Amino acid sequence: MRFDIMTLFPDMVNTILGESIIGRAQKSGIIEVHSHNIRDFSTDKHRKTDDTPYGGGVGMVMTCQPIYDCYKSIASQIPEESRQRVIYMSPKGRLFNHSLAEELSGYDNLIFLCGHYEGVDQRIIDEIVDDEISIGDYVVTGGEIPACIVIDAVSRLKDGVLASSECYEGESLASGILEYPQYTKPREFMGREVPEVLLSGNHAEIDKWRLTEAVNITRERRPELLLLHPEIEESLKPKKKKR
Ligand code: SAM
Repeated sequence: MRFDIMTLFPDMVNTILGESIIGRAQKSGIIEVHSHNIRDFSTDKHRKTDDTPYGGGVGMVMTCQPIYDCYKSIASQIPEESRQRVIYMSPKGRLFNHSLAEELSGYDNLIFLCGHYEGVDQRIIDEIVDDEISIGDYVVTGGEIPACIVIDAVSRLKDGVLASSECYEGESLASGILEYPQYTKPREFMGREVPEVLLSGNHAEIDKWRLTEAVNITRERRPELLLLHPEIEESLKPKKKKR
């Protein structure tokens, strides 16, 4: 899968995505990440990429021309038949979540536009963007970190990025509810013991304990998730014996 990022700050995304699991996925060729400096496409003699807003007001707005030429350059490198999507990272977009990550993992190529300052001229959104995505109901200074979050969440769903699909299938939200608490060595820390059942070697009991904990923490923190998946809580109820 290939990701292209249109940004004024390519070093930001290269640094974040060049490390750890996503960095290794790039080295092994499972994913490709290409960052493109929008400023390199500016035809302005001072390489300007923003201007004051029509109608007045504070701040600067990113201009259409450098973004459009940057996009055209990327599009010329991608086969027409590949399944692709152009995404503008924006607080006005669809809220990002696990099911949207799954949906996006079905594309061959995702092209991200990262805004800065007051954002981008609406006409470039109307011309090239398929989807606007928000990482949450708050505003950050630029689209680079939001784009990295989406790329990370989508990449880890691709075969070979994690050790196995089991690594994400049972995780919070992928399973439909929040995950149970995790413990590792030592057995005791500051007087706090690992729950006995996890040391028992009884896998049926461990699974039951984990599911109960997952349901309890979800009921406490995100009760609406349990309403969406009543079958999970139902599976914990004792089965009626057949006569
Ligand atoms: N004036 C814009 C508004 O009120 O909608 C906010 C601009 S923000 C300071 C600059 C850029 O950061 C945006 O163009 C967008 O690319 C990015 N951004 C900010 N918050 C975001 C969020 N919650 N999700 C995704 N991108 C965001």
